[in-house]
Amino acid sequence: MTSIANTISKRPHTQYRGRFAPSPSGLLHFGSLVAALASFLQARANDGKWFIRIEDIDKPREMPGADSEILKTLDAYGLHWDESVLYQSQQSDLYWQVLEQLHQQGLSYYCQCTRAMIKKAGGIYTGHCKNLAHSLDNSAIRLVNEHHCNEFVDGIQGAVHVDPALSAEDFIIHRRDGLFAYQLAVVVDDIYQGITEVVRGCDLLEPTARQLTLFKTLGAEAPKYMHVPLAITDQGYKLSKQNSAPAIDNNNPQPALIKALKFLGQQPPQHLENESIEKIIDWAISHWRIDLVPKKQEIML
Ligand code: GLU
Ligand code: ZN
Repeated sequence: MTSIANTISKRPHTQYRGRFAPSPSGLLHFGSLVAALASFLQARANDGKWFIRIEDIDKPREMPGADSEILKTLDAYGLHWDESVLYQSQQSDLYWQVLEQLHQQGLSYYCQCTRAMIKKAGGIYTGHCKNLAHSLDNSAIRLVNEHHCNEFVDGIQGAVHVDPALSAEDFIIHRRDGLFAYQLAVVVDDIYQGITEVVRGCDLLEPTARQLTLFKTLGAEAPKYMHVPLAITDQGYKLSKQNSAPAIDNNNPQPALIKALKFLGQQPPQHLENESIEKIIDWAISHWRIDLVPKKQEIML
């Protein structure tokens, strides 16, 4: 059987290729700055490329104009990217091709179970629709999960163990409401862009297992993963676009940038606070130490 990954990308990559992949559901807040900065610094400190991918496949959750605001903010913070920005909304044909191939290889099936049904049956989907031969209408598409990922090693957090019931689940790759699932799009595009290292926030630590399952299924080599701590409020909430964490300031980026460096365990000298963004970023690239990033999933601000 030919691997589906060959139809997604034919380019072998030896150089480091990283990415930041924001969803345009809101403006960048301090937590997203931390994730963007870490992935940028890890790429630049390794002479790597760094790409931006706008994950705009969930129209109902989008904030109009957020994509260009996010790009403006990244620019203001000196996080300059390579090549042109990839928009997931432009990738539908590729996602459909992958779905089609999975279907042809018997690696997916249509499912009409509702969330309430699954919850009633214990919360984990156990393959109810696998042999029911539903059609696409009013169905989600689930992956036949033949590569359970119970454990993986994260470059910052170390060994991560995944609940075996969760890692065995035939998870959704195309939603009942007609949208592509995040898991599918993120993996197809990481293959498409030849990403070799993924540095992002710990909110995506658990979903990594599903992504590793998909890489195996598609026959592609998975990138290395590094998950940086999440910023949480003193009430224990993670900063997120959904709970409307305040946007970071584009006009006075120095303080948030220094704060983000410290959050990531780096030790910027005090005089740096009065320097230009370019100087701060130069210092950060040449002094970047990923081993200083706290091995914690959350840090209170
Ligand atoms: N688009 C996702 C988010 O904003 C991140 C995807 C990823 O880094 O893998 O939460
Ligand atoms: Zn079902």
